[in-house]
Amino acid sequence: MIPTYRKQVQPFVWDGVEVLAYKEQDGTHRAVTRQVLTGAEHGQGTSLRYFEVGPGGHTTLERHEHTHVVIPIRGGGTALVVDRIVPLAAHDVVFVPSWGWHQFRAADDEPLGFLCAVTVERDRPVLPTAQDLGVLRADPHIAAFIRV
Ligand code: MN
Repeated sequence: MIPTYRKQVQPFVWDGVEVLAYKEQDGTHRAVTRQVLTGAEHGQGTSLRYFEVGPGGHTTLERHEHTHVVIPIRGGGTALVVDRIVPLAAHDVVFVPSWGWHQFRAADDEPLGFLCAVTVERDRPVLPTAQDLGVLRADPHIAAFIRV
C-alpha cells in the first residue's frame, strides 16, 4: 500500500523512512544523510527527499541534466547555485537548472536540512573536471566557497 501519511517521529525523521548515507562514500561530500519521503509509487513522476548536512559539512559539487527544487527547513548554510553563492535559511526556495553547478554547505555551528524534489527518471551527476574547476575558480567568491 502506498503510504499516505508519514508522521515526523523525531525532529526531521519520519516514520518508516530510513536515514541513509547521502551517496556512496567517495570523498566529495561530508556529513550528509538522505531520507526518501516520496517516490515513483506516488505517481507524480517526482521524488521528494530530505537531506541533512551536519555542521561544517557539504554536499558534492556536481551538475546534471535533471533539475532540483530545494527548500531548506532546518538550520542554515550557503550554496553555490550555477554562478552565485547564496545564503540559505528555512523556507527559502532554490531552483537548480539543468546543467547548473551546485553545492550545499551547512553553517559551521548548525546543520542544514532541506527538502529536494527531483524527477524519478534522471541522469547521473557529473563531477567537475580540472578544466571545470579552473572556470569556476576564476570567480574568487566561488573559489573560496567550493569543496572538492
Ligand atoms: Mn544534484
